[in-house]
Amino acid sequence: MTVPNPARAAAHLTGRDHLYVDGAWVAPAGTGVIEVTDPTTEEVIGTVPAGEAADVDAAVRAARAAFGPWSALPAATRAAHLGRLLDALTSRAPLIATTVARELGTPLKVATRVQAGLPLAVLKSYVSLAATAEATEEVGNSLVVREPVGVVGAITPWNYPLHQVVAKVGAALAAGCTVVVKPAELTPLTAYLLFDAAHEAGLPPGVLNLVTGTGPVVGAALAGHPDVDMVSFTGSTATGAHVSRAAADRIARVALELGGKSANVILDDADLARAVKVGVGNCLLNSGQTCTAWTRMLVPRDRYGEAVALAASMAAGYALGDPFDEATRLGPLVSAGQRERVRGYLAKGVADGARVVCGGLDADVPAKGYFVAPTVLADVHPDSVVAQEEIFGPVLAVLAYDDEDEAVAIANNSRYGLAGAVWSGDPERALRVARRLRTGAVDINGGAFNPLAPFGGYKQSGIGRELGAHGLAEFQQIKAIQR
Ligand code: NAD
Repeated sequence: MTVPNPARAAAHLTGRDHLYVDGAWVAPAGTGVIEVTDPTTEEVIGTVPAGEAADVDAAVRAARAAFGPWSALPAATRAAHLGRLLDALTSRAPLIATTVARELGTPLKVATRVQAGLPLAVLKSYVSLAATAEATEEVGNSLVVREPVGVVGAITPWNYPLHQVVAKVGAALAAGCTVVVKPAELTPLTAYLLFDAAHEAGLPPGVLNLVTGTGPVVGAALAGHPDVDMVSFTGSTATGAHVSRAAADRIARVALELGGKSANVILDDADLARAVKVGVGNCLLNSGQTCTAWTRMLVPRDRYGEAVALAASMAAGYALGDPFDEATRLGPLVSAGQRERVRGYLAKGVADGARVVCGGLDADVPAKGYFVAPTVLADVHPDSVVAQEEIFGPVLAVLAYDDEDEAVAIANNSRYGLAGAVWSGDPERALRVARRLRTGAVDINGGAFNPLAPFGGYKQSGIGRELGAHGLAEFQQIKAIQR
């Protein structure tokens, strides 16, 4: 008999049947709906509207009408609006955490700290940074001013369902842009909480709009809309290329935050035990569904056996289960499709000669739910599929290298360039190696996440930066006025 989990039972959710356009909850143009499934129970927990192109049109019209007045407000007034939005969102923090735990499967503790905590920190940063939107520069006889880009289409993925939305919305609104949001269809219920907060905060009508729906219908309509000045997209590299092409005909600005295959470079003078422990934790966060996850651990060849054994025992300690159980450290993957994708990569890895030292396809997992066991693969060749492609599951590949140059070469042997890590007892050496990695971010000896630091990718990991002042600048035009 299954004992009902009281925390889960309390986190009851219902679906939604309206979109948010021009400051009001409105009925969608069509009658189609999208089912939202709890990946732990495999039960449908609600539905949201499957929006259509007509809904995107209405939302873009509202955003266009709101753009003039919103962009003309003094930056301090926009900051005050963002402050009220932050208060309304903060009061929903526990609900955000339980909603993410239910529709994505993130363990409640992590959902509270990261999935709710991070977007609140980011929005707070934009309450302060909003004032900098009006910064000007004197260059010779020119006055250089910053102005908002205009109407923004924001298209987001499911892995950090509120953070990805807030990273765009906070910066865009602070810059004076207006926004139409298209959240991921797998996790739309969390996005609704932002719009509840916006409504309560009294954000002016049209400044922030929500159209739920599928990527090929609502996402494509937004990316290709003639009156959208900028498309800010986070998701897979393949879809990012689609979005880029859709925006290209009208020369609309795009910002792309895409996939990653980050390397954790453990140098020979590092504290190996700590580097492996933190590295495994980073890779498994959110069941490996994190774009910056350090999925390739690079270890000096003469310490390879030791590192593999440590990684395997660390990963084995990650208890799989219901996100609402206190003991759970790893929830399910977001969907059956994602689980099958990850299982396919595991089969391919083994076929290519990788050795499973923890987890794998045959490991025990709960019978219900889209679970994959935390998995460590050893003897992974740097050119193999599991070392090259983004798996987006709880899978760590451990690779050996002979010297520092080879470690850097393996780390850079990727079409991605999002993040990475370097561990060393020598801070200068660590910095030197960090500078050689072709990625948008590097953490030295587990350097803490900084919500004010620019975030984005080199190579096929994207174009542009989010967060902090750099994130705000993405949503601005620059004008030179000669006097
Ligand atoms: P995805 O590309 O399938 O979907 C992302 C969004 O794009 C969704 O809202 C989807 O509905 C929409 N979409 C799909 N087809 C579209 C189209 N033709 N036109 C317009 N929009 C369309 O990605 P996903 O599976 O939701 O997310 C996982 C991916 O996101 C991973 O590759 C991950 O690395 C990446 N990601 C990157 C970052 C980052 O900041 N770099 C952050 C999180 C996730």
